[in-house]
Amino acid sequence: MADANVESNALLAELEPTVRARFLPYFQRVDLRRADVIHSDGQMVEWVYFPLTGLVAVLTQTIAGESVQTGMIGCNGAVGVLEAFGSGRFRSRGEVQIPGTALRVGVGRYREMVHSSPALQAAVEQHLEMLVTEARQLMACNALHPIEGRLSRSILDALDRSCLDRVLPLTQEALAQMLGAQRTSVSGCIAKLQRRGLIRSSRGAIEVLDVARLEQVACDCRVSLALAKDEIWTTPDRQRSASG
Ligand SMILES: [Zn+2]
Repeated sequence: MADANVESNALLAELEPTVRARFLPYFQRVDLRRADVIHSDGQMVEWVYFPLTGLVAVLTQTIAGESVQTGMIGCNGAVGVLEAFGSGRFRSRGEVQIPGTALRVGVGRYREMVHSSPALQAAVEQHLEMLVTEARQLMACNALHPIEGRLSRSILDALDRSCLDRVLPLTQEALAQMLGAQRTSVSGCIAKLQRRGLIRSSRGAIEVLDVARLEQVACDCRVSLALAKDEIWTTPDRQRSASG
């Protein structure tokens, strides 16, 4: 797979050239189509997905059948990395929210690849630490921060992780699910941000017109998580140099 563009994914970009050449034949390029379920709740993980573009929502469902988004993974990470080394079972639903493309690799090959690549192993560990940090931060965010700031942060996060340029094919319903909020509250906030010239909402899409001003409206979880990411992605290097 010569044109795999593995560099587009933050984890695969870390692969050493020899490991990449060895495992590339086992990668499959797949389209991520809106609403495709790539991992079902409670089922065994067969593939680990590395998005190159687009966005996968992690949705957690109650026994009563209600679901709320508890994660958002795009070119910044991969879906199934944690489960592949644990029970092997995905305990939420991985559903495509923004269409794009991904590379996927069978779970057995994935484990073999991680064991062959110290750089990928470090990147996966950093990704997992970041996922846990993000889950904790967003729990606080949901309890404490007003919806306008949360919405602005979510739009910016989705823009970063989908590797798209300005236009996000996201419906207001998807944004409401992302925030665990009523659709009417989300629509009201979108109208407000649009009047201020920060975004433009059209049928099934949000266009970001002014990233800098949207950053100012976003809740400060965006800054907290950016700082955490910087620390998490640089710490292993410091540890290696200290022990070496
Ligand atoms: Zn927040």
